[in-house]
Amino acid sequence: MSFGIDDLPVRDELRGKSPYGAPQLDVPVRLNTNENPYPLPEPLVERIAERVREAARHLNRYPDRDAVELRTRLAEYLTKTSGHPVGLADVWAANGSNEVIQQLLQTFGGPGRTAIGFEPSYSMHGLIARGTGTGWISGPRNEDFTIDLAAARKAIAEHRPDVVFVTTPNNPTGNAVPAETVLELYEAAQAAKPSMVVVDEAYVEFSHGDSLLPLLDGRPHLVISRTMSKAFGAAGLRLGYLAAHPAVVDAVQLVRLPYHLSAVTQATALAALEHTDTLLKYVEQLKAERDRLVAELRALGYEVTESDANFVQFGRFADSHAAWRGILDRGVLVRDNGVPGWLRVTAGTPAENDAFLDAVREWKKEQGS
Ligand SMILES: *Cc1c(COP(=O)(O)O)cnc(C)c1O
Repeated sequence: MSFGIDDLPVRDELRGKSPYGAPQLDVPVRLNTNENPYPLPEPLVERIAERVREAARHLNRYPDRDAVELRTRLAEYLTKTSGHPVGLADVWAANGSNEVIQQLLQTFGGPGRTAIGFEPSYSMHGLIARGTGTGWISGPRNEDFTIDLAAARKAIAEHRPDVVFVTTPNNPTGNAVPAETVLELYEAAQAAKPSMVVVDEAYVEFSHGDSLLPLLDGRPHLVISRTMSKAFGAAGLRLGYLAAHPAVVDAVQLVRLPYHLSAVTQATALAALEHTDTLLKYVEQLKAERDRLVAELRALGYEVTESDANFVQFGRFADSHAAWRGILDRGVLVRDNGVPGWLRVTAGTPAENDAFLDAVREWKKEQGS
């Protein structure tokens, strides 16, 4: 036997665990990671090259540690799209919203503390909790994947978690959480501790409804996290950000690594933010394709969870892994998130979605159903 991970003195809570990651298989149509299927438009690619070239001239120096220009532009974007005034002091940015969440858990979680999420939800919340030594509590959902408010309130009162995660629209189920539910959870969290409530709005640009940013008013324990990975079509950029009370922004700076956002990242993100209109151009088209997937899957007789995201959860399958395999055998990769009976498909280009629907139809026919 060769030397392996088990021979190293890794922390007990990491033993026997596997790293996060969807299997990336080399198939013609990949609809498994909720990426935007459209590459960046050429004029934006040119602008990025220009700004990165300029940044390269100063790479002998550390980047702006506080990313002031970038945070200012992000605040402007949030203000413009939500109508809720957001300023530089209310915004923090990091390498993907996963890093934002890690910094939040390093700040407000950690050994001896706990965080709760309502599952099935974004599995990275639990994984980052584990990575930061934060205890993880899996809270309940109803059969239809809405949050079971009574059970959630009870869990918060009982466990008094330090951090409460609410993902809306939720991944992998797709449904949005009503603002009233978030407010009830916030009240429960304040009564119990008070604890931080982190609303993960990674998919909010695809939503039928509005961002919960206006709820930040008068709620210093509320944090809204966002990303450029999904609607902006810039997953490769690695840029996530949060909006919250300025005290929260001050607090996360206690744990961030100095110069965590490279000058190249800041330059690229700034170029992208100059082109939000072009970047968000495909959002309406993706929303229409998402709605088409919902309608067509329902017409095929599947149950589909209401979706406010750029993906759709559909079922129910007696054996979801066999269905996943059957669709894959026809050249389309979707996601088996381990929600028993359900699969998740990302809205791609119209042609990709057609290929997916054809694959499902064929597989279904072969099953004789
Ligand atoms: C994809 C996703 C993210 C994005 O993570 P990044 O690190 O910003 O790429 C965050 N939250 C949820 C719920 C997601 O599905």
